[in-house]
Amino acid sequence: MSELSIIKRIAEICQLINHYNHQYYVLDEPSVPDVEYDRLMRELNTLETEHPHLKTVDSPSQKVGGTALKSFSQVTHQLPMLSLDNVFSEQEWQAFVKRLLDRLNRGGVTSTLDFAICAEPKLDGLAVSIRYEKGIFVQAATRGDGMVGENITENVRTIKSIPLRLQGTSFPDILEVRGEVFMPKASFDALNKQAIKKGEKGFANPRNAAAGSLRQLDSKITAKRNLGFYAYGIGFVGALNELDDDIESEVESIDESWLANSHYQRLCQIKALGLPMCPEVKLLENATQVEAFYQDILQQREALSYEIDGTVFKVDDIELQKKLGFVARAPRWATAYKFPAQEELTLLESVDFQV
Ligand code: NAD
Repeated sequence: MSELSIIKRIAEICQLINHYNHQYYVLDEPSVPDVEYDRLMRELNTLETEHPHLKTVDSPSQKVGGTALKSFSQVTHQLPMLSLDNVFSEQEWQAFVKRLLDRLNRGGVTSTLDFAICAEPKLDGLAVSIRYEKGIFVQAATRGDGMVGENITENVRTIKSIPLRLQGTSFPDILEVRGEVFMPKASFDALNKQAIKKGEKGFANPRNAAAGSLRQLDSKITAKRNLGFYAYGIGFVGALNELDDDIESEVESIDESWLANSHYQRLCQIKALGLPMCPEVKLLENATQVEAFYQDILQQREALSYEIDGTVFKVDDIELQKKLGFVARAPRWATAYKFPAQEELTLLESVDFQV
């Protein structure tokens, strides 16, 4: 391939991906199956790796997909909400492990994981960040472009499993819980059956149904949609300090002293405060267990009450996470290990759910 044809191909892929991103993240109406989107993204990554001088700063490979809709007020995340890198095969998983070990300078010593990994299902919904102040639910936002999301506080407030007040008394003044809002399969089926009965168009899949339900301007509609939530991480954690003689003004400062030094233990901490944690999450000791977890969840996939599209593996030790750090759009200490594509996109007849 000549340099000119590579430049043309990269431009073509970027244009397509940007278009698909708009349909998926902004309109909640994907027009191509995920497998086709993933194929294009991988082709782009390969071309950019082979020809790094052709990688542009605004390439979709460098960005967290999504844009905050102007119809919502905007929330600037105190800590960015990133995406996840992904692997699709044993070979790619091994390459991920090698990168981890090399970065931690363990590459020469061992070729297998010799530290704990937190293993989680990859929930197929929408990422949200929920902020508690002094134990009270005060704000919820979508991921958006990772820096700025949509203020969906009133909609998230209607999700029954999300506590409006934290349990117990031991929690930081400010606690941001991050996790996935999803639509259980049974609710999705019921919603689409209802739509078809009315001659309307349903959602393409539970992920789009969750996203469409959460980004409603009328929270009464969200309340009817029976959404679920599982926490999978923590964002900003801090203290609120009152200024002398002025109770009205409080200043925030980072204070992570409450947090455990293990990702898994952190999830247990927020579970103890009353937030739902996915029951399939496990702390693994070694790489053999990684493979077994992947196979186990793959087998359970059909039977689970919620949609997943893979597993997620995260380095458990927070100190190791800090050493590994981040790239532009994702942490280096985690990866999604995606399942083979289940089915092509189902497009349903047209319908308006906004009533
Ligand atoms: P992603 O969905 O591949 O991974 C990141 C997201 O995973 C996080 O933001 C979080 O919401 C979610 N997640 C679920 N379980 C998690 C867990 N246990 N821990 C941490 N995060 C967890 O990334 P993305 O950037 O949101 O989306 C990219 C994917 O979306 C593509 O691979 C493609 O499959 C799909 N997509 C499809 C189209 C289309 O047109 N069909 C367009 C854009 C994106």
